[in-house]
Amino acid sequence: MIQVREAFSDSNRLATQGQLCSICGAPLQAGNRVIDTGTWIEMEGTFEFCESCFGEMAKQLGWVSPDRFQALWSDYEDAIVLVNDAEARVEQQQTVIQTLAEEVAFAALERASRFDPESAVEVSEEPDFDGAPNAA
Ligand SMILES: [Zn+2]
Repeated sequence: MIQVREAFSDSNRLATQGQLCSICGAPLQAGNRVIDTGTWIEMEGTFEFCESCFGEMAKQLGWVSPDRFQALWSDYEDAIVLVNDAEARVEQQQTVIQTLAEEVAFAALERASRFDPESAVEVSEEPDFDGAPNAA
């Protein structure tokens, strides 16, 4: 059974050299833990390795470290905030556009209602001498 420990065990073949990682052969780095595979190998002892080696294996499989994950998650949350802000601004501008369109339509209706067909000047099809439309 695989277990996480705070130090290398004494049953590792390298234990006599100061408890070293079965993979990289280095002593445990401060803050790192040991992955004990629970496998005992003849002439080798307990097969266990350091968190750095585990991290390297995980990285090779496409996994990300907790620090990298935290950075990605933070970027993701920032992006969500930006998208929400952008959506709110779009919605706000759509309201402004709608209001302006209604005001333009109202102004056009008001102008049309003031138009008096009786006093309108009729324009002939024939141009006058100067080329301007001829008022009847
Ligand atoms: Zn190692």
